[in-house]
Amino acid sequence: MAQQPITLIGGGLVGALLAQQLAQRGFAVEVYEKRPDPRLTGFLGGRSINLALAERGLQALRTAGLADDVLQRAVMMRGRMVHALDGNSGLQRYGVDDSEVIWSVSRGALNMLLLDAAEAAGVQFHFGQSLVSADFDAQRIRLADASGVERDSPVGMLIGADGAGSAVRAAMNAHSPLGERIESLGHGYKELEIPPAGELPDAVRQSSGGHDQFALEPHALHIWPRGGYMCIALPNTEGSFTVTLFLPAQGTAPSFATVPDATAAAAFFSEQFPGLLPLIPRFNEDFDSHPVGTLSTLYLERWHLDGRALLIGDAAHAIVPFHGQGMNCGFEDTVVLANLLAAAPNDSAEVFAEFQRVRQPNANAIAAMALENYVEMRDSVADPHYLAKRELGALLATRAPEHYMARYRLVTFSHVPYAYALERGRAQDALLEQLLRNTPQVANIDLDAAVSLFQSSLPPLPPLRHG
Ligand SMILES: Cc1cc2nc3c(=O)[nH]c(=O)nc-3n(C[C@H](O)[C@H](O)[C@H](O)COP(=O)(O)OP(=O)(O)OC[C@H]3O[C@@H](n4cnc5c(N)ncnc54)[C@H](O)[C@@H]3O)c2cc1C
Repeated sequence: MAQQPITLIGGGLVGALLAQQLAQRGFAVEVYEKRPDPRLTGFLGGRSINLALAERGLQALRTAGLADDVLQRAVMMRGRMVHALDGNSGLQRYGVDDSEVIWSVSRGALNMLLLDAAEAAGVQFHFGQSLVSADFDAQRIRLADASGVERDSPVGMLIGADGAGSAVRAAMNAHSPLGERIESLGHGYKELEIPPAGELPDAVRQSSGGHDQFALEPHALHIWPRGGYMCIALPNTEGSFTVTLFLPAQGTAPSFATVPDATAAAAFFSEQFPGLLPLIPRFNEDFDSHPVGTLSTLYLERWHLDGRALLIGDAAHAIVPFHGQGMNCGFEDTVVLANLLAAAPNDSAEVFAEFQRVRQPNANAIAAMALENYVEMRDSVADPHYLAKRELGALLATRAPEHYMARYRLVTFSHVPYAYALERGRAQDALLEQLLRNTPQVANIDLDAAVSLFQSSLPPLPPLRHG
């Protein structure tokens, strides 16, 4: 039976799921979380913020025995509903059928469910306790409570699941540099809300399709691509949608600098998102009171300090959100780490090194794909060449499923390593480009020859899911 006590900093999505899995494997786990207990105080001021759960995250939740509970509180999204400027919209399915869908979940509800599960597994939580610093040589950490009162506490194995601005990472970096590089995207985001359809004026409800509960098709991730920027909207179970505007931070083209307040933003929306604006009745209040979030990719050369401390989730590899994989990747991390630690509970140095060896190439790969997906979402989803490649890919996926699977599907619906998905995606894309070079019309392509090209150029795909 594993015995070494573990101190986890951060009881967010990744920290809570990791804590539950470690406790299930027999470890004594203590978690220090900066915020108060959201089950007592509510989450993030009560705003509905949601995120997309995909197969990798679901698989981790299955391992933890929590997938069914989470899916009961989730809304299925079958594909992207793309809204053009002229008001036309169309669904681009993500997968082949309803076995390949993603799920919109409330961040707050998911976090609370994970906290309950971790506590039930025996994890001890200390809320309102913020890590201030760590002395790795003395094996002590310094914590501050909400009123700023500080105290020291001894630690054994320290794991930082304290997110993109990780204090554990800062402490490790101060002890011996981790080779940190943070690349800002130069674009920010702001969250707005479409309320349940019943709260909208009748005329607005009728013009948006006359749905009873949801103002838009509920089973889709909505995108309003506009080239250099975009809005997206994900459904919430109670009928609302969380809208996110992604926009450059600076510059003379539309940016948060040129759209600094609700008045300027409303004029911008009425020009660029005319169908969306009437669905957001609290536009002015939301725009002026919600902060602009920043988006960056974090790269580290090293994720651990020998066997004393390790980073996981966003603390190790924060990425931009355009593949909807940050949490999914962090959830995948938790299963890998819990299994490695369970197999060698008293060899944390070896476990942490192996965890980095296995996960870092995959974190780098999803970081790259998430950046590429921003361009795809805001731009290419409406581009004819992109659509032709998609169409040809869909035909090949039916005719040669052992040799072609769209990269998005490999990332979103399979368990193959992200690094494999990136590499395979590049090889497949080169062949699609080759086929479309002289015949841009998919209807003119000899599909038998296309299948042969894929079969002769690429090995068959590996098993897509395990367990
Ligand atoms: C706009 C946006 C949309 C996204 N959409 C998706 C999506 O659709 N799908 C997806 O998979 N991912 C998405 N992500 C990414 C996802 O939010 C993160 O990958 C995920 O939250 C990482 O979880 P985490 O537990 O590592 O970090 P966090 O969720 O940031 O949790 C860190 C926790 O540590 C606590 N903490 C911080 N500092 C301290 C301290 N000093 N002491 C103690 N505790 C501390 C925090 O209070 C928090 O509870 C999105 C991200 C953004 C910004």
